[in-house]
Amino acid sequence: MERTAHADRFAEMIGAANVLTSPDDQAPYLTEWRDLYQGVTLMVLRPGSTEEVSAVMTYAYQNDLKVVPQGGNTGLVGGQIPQETGDEIVLSLSRLNKVRAVDPAGFTITAEAGVVLETLQNEAENVDRLFPLALGAQGSCQIGGNISTNAGGTAVLAYGNTRDLVLGLEVVLPTGEIWNGLRTLRKDNTGYDLKQLFIGGEGTLGIITAAALKLFPRPKKLEAAFVGLPDPHAALKLFTLAKAQAGPVLTGFEIMPRVGVEFCLRHLEGARDPLEGEHAWYVLMELSSGSEAFPVRDLMESILGEAFEEGLVEDAAFAQNLTQVQDFWHIRHGMSEVQKPEGGSIKHDVSVPVASIPDFLDKAMAAVEDFVPGCRPVPFGHIGDGNIHFNVSQPVGADKEDYLAKWDEMNTIVHGIVGEFGGSISAEHGIGRLKRDLLKDVKQGIELDLMKRIKDAFDPKGLLNPGRVL
Ligand code: FAD
Repeated sequence: MERTAHADRFAEMIGAANVLTSPDDQAPYLTEWRDLYQGVTLMVLRPGSTEEVSAVMTYAYQNDLKVVPQGGNTGLVGGQIPQETGDEIVLSLSRLNKVRAVDPAGFTITAEAGVVLETLQNEAENVDRLFPLALGAQGSCQIGGNISTNAGGTAVLAYGNTRDLVLGLEVVLPTGEIWNGLRTLRKDNTGYDLKQLFIGGEGTLGIITAAALKLFPRPKKLEAAFVGLPDPHAALKLFTLAKAQAGPVLTGFEIMPRVGVEFCLRHLEGARDPLEGEHAWYVLMELSSGSEAFPVRDLMESILGEAFEEGLVEDAAFAQNLTQVQDFWHIRHGMSEVQKPEGGSIKHDVSVPVASIPDFLDKAMAAVEDFVPGCRPVPFGHIGDGNIHFNVSQPVGADKEDYLAKWDEMNTIVHGIVGEFGGSISAEHGIGRLKRDLLKDVKQGIELDLMKRIKDAFDPKGLLNPGRVL
């Protein structure tokens, strides 16, 4: 059947205005945030309900049409961008954007897949609750995308990955069948926990249309400090000290190098250096408590006082109000986008055991500087989770394309060192298309075989997000 005939049938199901066939209308769905992928699509479909998603998927399955689910299009491994073959349909979840239920007493919220993460955070705040997932893309990414990628972010230390926040899911399967697993139970041991397969499944097993999620008490007391340190070894010691003293009250611990802060000062609107002198490394440390009575400020002072005495910390700025807390986080959350204007950046999203972070950084930074003299490593991120975004900006004045041509070789070097430390080559961004061919090097044969068998069971025709992950 011709493309226009399919488009006509989809128009009957979801309305002609939601079937995008012109290049101008399709453009926002085809370019990836880092410009690493430029897609070509048969058409973009924008269903507005679970039933419409089901109708689209039933028809696609019957007609052997390939489908790529897309949320906020902020994914960093190319999974949401249609391939250059042009035979994939983009299925955007953006119109499924209702919060279906909020239960402050039961500490749950049920939302459709297209609800933007920041909107979800605000909905929770409106009922004096916290939805803790937080990341730089929160103004655009959607909860369905977050769940499909099992997003991490800056609050994993205290609240876990997205996986830990999901109670139930509603999913449309590749065949078009609807699975309503929107349970809000905290305990449910009735056989296989199927939702776990869709969490982090990167849209290869089904389309998430809604989720029941956990809420938490909203922090009543919150303190943040921007800390200057000599090196990651001192940062790790500070982390150990803070974790030992604060336990669950330690809700953020992020590391950044000087060069990253300089990039922010150059390119990030509203960014200013919280400390007067320059320091080789920085940590943003946050403590928070749901209790008004908890002496969070005293605890922060005690931790940093001890760290000063031990010579771990060179300087620290305490946020004096919520605006300053946000200013500190503005720098941390801006760390990804400010690398773009500095030219080519070769990325690695890796994790190693927390205690190995400083040694990993020493070794990996030396290795990439040896490989490309003058390159500028900007490793930053969630040191408390053992997760570093080991990004390496091109040397000043180098040719961007020449530099990016070294992507695979540099990946091999860095991932080799990650392997020596028993780490992972994808801590939180997933596999998508970017890392698909690396999977065979890091998974056992039996793991890959089981993954393929699961994929075949859910999607026997291989029509949903083909070529991603596997
Ligand atoms: P998309 O990019 O649209 O899709 C991502 C994947 O999920 C694709 O494979 C897609 O096919 C699939 N998918 C999307 N929606 C659905 C659905 N409803 N059902 C089934 N499959 C679906 N990630 C982190 O983990 N931690 C961070 O700290 C972090 N920081 C970031 C900062 C910036 C500035 C940017 C640009 C990205 C960052 N990311 C981070 C990556 C990205 O934001 C996350 O992966 C996010 O969860 C993707 O959500 P999305 O809605 O944009 O999904």
